[in-house]
Amino acid sequence: MEKLRYGRVMLKLSGEALAGEQGFGIEPQTIQSICRELAEAASMGVQLSMVIGGGNIFRGISVSSKGMDRASADYMGMLATVMNALAVQDALEKLGITTRVMTAIDMKEVAEPYIRRRAIRHLEKGRVVICAAGTGIPYFTTDTAAALRAMELKCEAILKATRVNGVYDKDPEKHSDAVMFNRLTYLDVLQRRLKVMDSAAISLCMDNKLPIGVFNLFVPGNIQRVVRGEEVGTIVQG
Ligand code: UDP
Repeated sequence: MEKLRYGRVMLKLSGEALAGEQGFGIEPQTIQSICRELAEAASMGVQLSMVIGGGNIFRGISVSSKGMDRASADYMGMLATVMNALAVQDALEKLGITTRVMTAIDMKEVAEPYIRRRAIRHLEKGRVVICAAGTGIPYFTTDTAAALRAMELKCEAILKATRVNGVYDKDPEKHSDAVMFNRLTYLDVLQRRLKVMDSAAISLCMDNKLPIGVFNLFVPGNIQRVVRGEEVGTIVQG
């Protein structure tokens, strides 16, 4: 097996990535093409764990700002991440990849509960572990869940998959003169309020020296390049 830069990673996939052009919900073809990329990476031998967002279905804060209780709205958001996790699990298994969905909120008829030592065992056996329902706690985000699970599962990096090539000084989808950074420190991200992950997630990564690789999910082969340690996108570290 080839030598990889990272032996175990945490991939953070936002819910929107699963929506494709329709911008909402789950677009099966988009999921299939993402999962083909994930399957290629898994077949290289990297131990792959994932946290998937829910913003394509439900985002707690947007609904609570219109009057709904924030905690209830956040629980709905966490349930949305479970739907996404099941969709990704289905697509990965159709490609012959063995997976386990593990939920932070107990729903044992649907998926295994998240138990750290069991999750590590799945990874060691080459199964893709999809951590669903975020942290299981309202007022958090799936970015924070990804940082937390990455630490618990002893991942060597968080791979943050996006629609653009890396982290820019301004939104590259709105400004043609936006400049991409190759390298950033955690403090750069926090002080300049760059859109990598939310500040709670960045702080967790900073305190635990966990590198964050930000790259374009829709460039074929990119996940494999990152895992091999090639210079792709932006790397955030101390
Ligand atoms: N959420 C939560 N606690 C968590 C993770 C998520 O309450 O630990 C809720 C929150 O309402 C959030 C929604 O689930 O808006 C979907 O997650 P997120 O916004 O992080 O998804 P993404 O933007 O990555 O698609």
